[in-house]
Amino acid sequence: GEGLPRPEQTRIMVVANQKGGVGKTTTTVNIAASLALHGARVLVIDLDPQGNASTALGIDHHADVPSIYDVLVDSRPLSEVVQPVLDVEGLFCAPATIDLAGAEIELVSMVARESRLQRAIQAYEQPLDYVLIDCPPSLGLLSVNALVAGAEVLIPIQCEYYALEGLGQLLKNVDLVRGHLNPTLHVSTILLTMYDGRTRLASQVAEEVRSHFGQEVLRTSIPRSVRISEAPSYGQTVITYDPGSSGALSYIEAAREIAFRGVAVHYEPYQHGRVG
Ligand code: ADP
Ligand code: MG
Repeated sequence: GEGLPRPEQTRIMVVANQKGGVGKTTTTVNIAASLALHGARVLVIDLDPQGNASTALGIDHHADVPSIYDVLVDSRPLSEVVQPVLDVEGLFCAPATIDLAGAEIELVSMVARESRLQRAIQAYEQPLDYVLIDCPPSLGLLSVNALVAGAEVLIPIQCEYYALEGLGQLLKNVDLVRGHLNPTLHVSTILLTMYDGRTRLASQVAEEVRSHFGQEVLRTSIPRSVRISEAPSYGQTVITYDPGSSGALSYIEAAREIAFRGVAVHYEPYQHGRVG
C-alpha cells in the first residue's frame, strides 16, 4: 500500500474503555488493518477472553491454540503464539482463547504479575511498527498488564448518553500506572465511534468530548455503519470486507491521523479533570 510515516520506535497502543460495546475491538482491528495496508508491520494482541479481535481477524482461537494466555501464565514466548492475518500483509495477531478468563485470577499470585505482557513484548524480536492491545471491558490485571506494556492509550468513545460516565476510573488507573509502573503512559488518542451525525445527541456528546479532551480527540469520527458490524462474521475487517464503504474510509482516515501525529507531539502528560 501507499506509505504512511513509519514510527522510529514501535508504538504500543492500549485500546481501553471499561464499558463494553463502545467499539474497542472494532477500532483495534480496523486501525491495525489500515496501518498494515499502508505498509506498517502491526501486531494485534487480543487481551479479551471473548476473543472477538481474533475472530474479526479470521484467526483460529479454539481452546487448544497457543494463545496470549500461555504467554501471560506460562511465560511462553510471544513469537510462539503469533499468527499472520491471512488477507492483510504485515498484520499479525496473538489470539485470546477462553482460558484467558481464568488468567485474571491466576495472575494474582504470580511474580511480576503486572508486567508479564510488557516482558513478553520486549522479548519479541520481529520488527514491529505498531502493537495494538485490545482490552477486556474491565480494569483488572489483564488491563493493568496492557497499561504497563504500552505507552499510549487509545480510548474509543461511543457517541451516546453517558458516554463519559465511568471514564474517570480508567483515567485514574492510567495515572496510577504512570505514577508507579510506567512513567511514559499517557492518553494519546480519543476516537468517537458509532457517530450518527443526524442526531443532536451525537453532536452534543462529540462537542462535550472535544471540549474535555481537546487535541487528543481525532478529527475523524467513525460513523455507525452496517458494513462495520457485518465484517467480523466473515472473519474480516471492514477494510478488506468493503474497502470503499464509509466505515472503511473513516477507519483508514483515523489511522492516517494516528500515523501522522506520531508519538513526539503527545508526550505532554495527560491531565484529567472531572470526567465520570
Ligand atoms: P467493545 O470491544 O468495546 O465491546 P465492539 O467493537 O465489539 O465493542 O463493538 C460492539 C458492537 O458494535 C459489535 O457488534 C460491533 O460490530 C458493533 N459496532 C462497532 N462499531 C460500529 C460502527 N461504527 N457501526 C456499527 N456497528 C458497530
Ligand atoms: Mg471487545
